[in-house]
Amino acid sequence: MADATAPYRIKGEIGEYEVVIGLEVHAQVVSNAKLFSSAATAFGAEPNTQVALVDAAMPGMLPVPNRECIRQAVRTGMALEAQINRWSRFDRKNYFYADLPQGYQISQLYHPLVGEGEVEVLLDPADETSTKAIGIERIHVEQDAGKLMHDQHPTSSYVDLNRAGVALMEIVSRPDMRSPSEAGAYLRKLRSILRYVGSCDGNMEEGSMRADVNVSVRKVGAELGTRTETKNVNSVRFVMAVVEHEAKRQVELIEGGGTVVQETRLFDPDKGVTRTLRSKEDAHDYRYFPDPDLLPLELDDAFLEECRASLPELPDAKRKRYESHGIPPYNASVLTAEVETARWFDALLEKGVEPKAAANWVASELFGALNRLGKSIEESPVSPEQAAELLALVGDGTISGSLAKQVFEIMLESGQGAAAIVEERGLKQTSDTGAIDAAVDTVLAANADKVAEYKSGKEALFGFFVGQVMKAMAGKANPKLVNEALRAKLG
Ligand code: ADP
Ligand code: MG
Repeated sequence: MADATAPYRIKGEIGEYEVVIGLEVHAQVVSNAKLFSSAATAFGAEPNTQVALVDAAMPGMLPVPNRECIRQAVRTGMALEAQINRWSRFDRKNYFYADLPQGYQISQLYHPLVGEGEVEVLLDPADETSTKAIGIERIHVEQDAGKLMHDQHPTSSYVDLNRAGVALMEIVSRPDMRSPSEAGAYLRKLRSILRYVGSCDGNMEEGSMRADVNVSVRKVGAELGTRTETKNVNSVRFVMAVVEHEAKRQVELIEGGGTVVQETRLFDPDKGVTRTLRSKEDAHDYRYFPDPDLLPLELDDAFLEECRASLPELPDAKRKRYESHGIPPYNASVLTAEVETARWFDALLEKGVEPKAAANWVASELFGALNRLGKSIEESPVSPEQAAELLALVGDGTISGSLAKQVFEIMLESGQGAAAIVEERGLKQTSDTGAIDAAVDTVLAANADKVAEYKSGKEALFGFFVGQVMKAMAGKANPKLVNEALRAKLG
């Protein structure tokens, strides 16, 4: 992971370049209804079954702001430590397109709901000092458009207006990122915060979060270069690929004596390249103006207080809390990256387990098992309560760590509790020193050659003897006592 914190540089003939990245993230707001209508927002519904008259732009229909969508955007702003503007206003962004029946999108250009904020990213998850602050310029609230379908009929295109009017937050970053991995870390962190807050489900495959990727290059330390904007990139991996490809393309262009032109590009995930969609000359004139159908938004103290009070513990605070319990930084960041994992782990901690051992067990044993089973943590066959029971048996010395692995396997298969499995199968760890001594004698007698090697200095063999004794006792011997008995007998 050392390269995650090293400067990202592209070497050319004429100089060395750095890349500058700013992201505009569109995040669909979690809300039962749309931004200005009461139509439903569930993903995957039959086309055109979630369309109110205002979404279809029927003449005379008026938009009514949905308090919940505004609340979600304010909560998001607070989670990003951003300035919340008590007074904001909606503007019309005019353009004509088949997926936009109104002929304009209601957005916020001049007076966004949320102003400047910050996202702190961790560049190396094992090093809590490898942080970098990425500035947020603004968050504004706007309507999503409908979706055109070109594969339904040989000569016509169809339109599905279910998404038309759904609330989006556009989260605009400062041009503060300097490498593909920083852009990836920022997007992952933003997604994680939104999912903790519950204001966006962060599902990039379903399009509920997508990024416009602005990239420019410059000689190290020089003025900002001209940027290109690659639209609607829908995975963290693709965002990183866009940055890498665009930076390289721009450097080659400059090195070849050309200049970068400001333009909008599209990413082709199959080829891993971007290509021109439209240049600045063809840019729309959106003729923005305040929407005359909507009053400005004015937020009062009670509303703001409720928004703040409803925020959960966020990933950074949680990570620091875990670290204060003695959990190593890497495990703490793995356990807090996804809200579902953190919830599961918090439920486990509530059962009074030892935090460090529990974190280690979740990160290795549980994650390993879920990986093998192809299940998410929410589908874990073992609950936090059941895991706590298993960890307690290890903690009080009833079973050894290696037996715990076997017990866990049986738990996964049978759904039985750890204590019942240990009882039923007689798996209790034994501290019977007589039995341990006898096993040690047998093992040493059967391996006289190795004992001689050990005594002549090959101390690494000690582990072999421990393993043999444990094996002879079917894994049930108390490892500490086995170690003691071996040391005594080997001198
Ligand atoms: P617009 O409103 O035309 O989209 P903005 O100035 O609001 O332009 O910038 C949009 C995004 O582009 C922001 O995320 C910003 O950080 C980023 N950006 C601006 N200038 C650059 C640059 N020179 N290189 C890379 N990204 C940039
Ligand atoms: Mg833009």
